[in-house]
Amino acid sequence: MNEAAPVIPVVSYARISADTARDGHGVEDQHKANRETAARLGWTIVHRYTDNDLSAAKAAVVRPDFEAMVKALKSGHMPDGQFVRGVIVVADDRLTRRAGDYERFVDALTYEEGRLYADARGSKNLYSEDVESMGLFGVVISKMEVRKMQRRARRSHRARAELGIPVGGKRPFGWQGDKLRLEPEEAEWLAKGAREVIAGKSLHSILREWREAGVRTVNDKEWASRSLKLALWNPRLCGWRKHNGELVRDANGIPIVGLWETVITPKEWMAIDAIFSARVGPNTKADGSVTDYRTPSYLLTGILRCGKPREDGQICNSPLRATARADLSGGYLYQCPSKEMGGCGGTGRNGAKIDESITEAVLSKLEERAAGKTRADAVWGGEEELARLMAKQRKLLQAWQEDQVSDELFFPENQRMEARVKELRADRTRHALSQQRAAEVTGDVRERWTSGRLDLAQKRTLIREVLQAVLVLPVGGGGRRPFNPDLLVPKWRD
Ligand SMILES: [Zn+2]
Repeated sequence: MNEAAPVIPVVSYARISADTARDGHGVEDQHKANRETAARLGWTIVHRYTDNDLSAAKAAVVRPDFEAMVKALKSGHMPDGQFVRGVIVVADDRLTRRAGDYERFVDALTYEEGRLYADARGSKNLYSEDVESMGLFGVVISKMEVRKMQRRARRSHRARAELGIPVGGKRPFGWQGDKLRLEPEEAEWLAKGAREVIAGKSLHSILREWREAGVRTVNDKEWASRSLKLALWNPRLCGWRKHNGELVRDANGIPIVGLWETVITPKEWMAIDAIFSARVGPNTKADGSVTDYRTPSYLLTGILRCGKPREDGQICNSPLRATARADLSGGYLYQCPSKEMGGCGGTGRNGAKIDESITEAVLSKLEERAAGKTRADAVWGGEEELARLMAKQRKLLQAWQEDQVSDELFFPENQRMEARVKELRADRTRHALSQQRAAEVTGDVRERWTSGRLDLAQKRTLIREVLQAVLVLPVGGGGRRPFNPDLLVPKWRD
């Protein structure tokens, strides 16, 4: 006995149309041609499907066998369980006349790999990229190519979202080592903290609570204000992620959802984002003015320079540093750093006395300047627009949170307004900065200075406004001499 050849089960399809009737090719002729094709290719016909277009009402042509065949092809077997791997027809125009049906047919047949198709001229590869030579199928397949690309794009978006799972390094607080599943106890703290932020609780009191409860970071450290804020502001909490400071979004502007379990809803996170965004940058106060965190604690650090000539005749010119000295009146000393530190170590002067002397010179200069100028436009022009825009943004956010506005409408619009708010805030900061310089150079500067209304940073800003540097010349001779203001040489700005 010969070993049976592997059976390749296919179906035969025939359709009677007006054309078929005219040229006399009846159903039996078509199925006979299909049998011959099958024999040539070594396939086995396991079922015959036949539709009669002529028998159906003209308005609504129904092809029950075509529908049954599509169903069988998609599933890969017929209702009785018989496997089906392909189709034979006389010609592709026998299948159907409607483009939509072609599409469904190709979709069903190519649903899985390795499906077969043949007509009287032989087999065709419906997975082939060479669609131009395929006539009607070519049209359908090239159309499906677009779909395939769309499917691919969707997949890559998801892959990008998956990349949001941090690779290497520690797990994020709230998630387990796989960065997907929640660490229940930590996640509960995050959810609680996040909702407290929304409810208006201060970050400081949330921090205190976490510390008192002994909650530790993944590095087993005590939480700090900054790390807590970052943890509660992380879009990961609601399944989103940021890339280069922006939410990763799809083509419609809608944030892409990652695969990890979430702690809060996107709506809650947007509320937190709105709250934290309203508190602007670390050096910027709410009104847009700037604080300088690097302000030294002495008035003239960085402004005084050593005026002692070196051995080569050049002036030392090193910036003097302030040092606390209890033995001096005033309690501190400006001095040139040692040679090891880049100075000459040769100059040292009573700090309080220099400060007093330079302050007087600076105030005189400022008053002189204030007398000669009118105050520039002190009011920033964008306040109204910013307020209106932020109100509008809050309103839109609320509408979205109450499901009155769709994602498709909310995200692009919100993104647009966000960009404008950012722009306006930057402009306000620039304006505030220039005002801080210009507006304070007014007639009452001495009064404000001496009454303690200016802090050290503001005073230093004013000093820099008029002074480039002050050269501190050597006293000459030995021993202690009375303070001589003439040995201070200011370099004024124009
Ligand atoms: Zn020096």
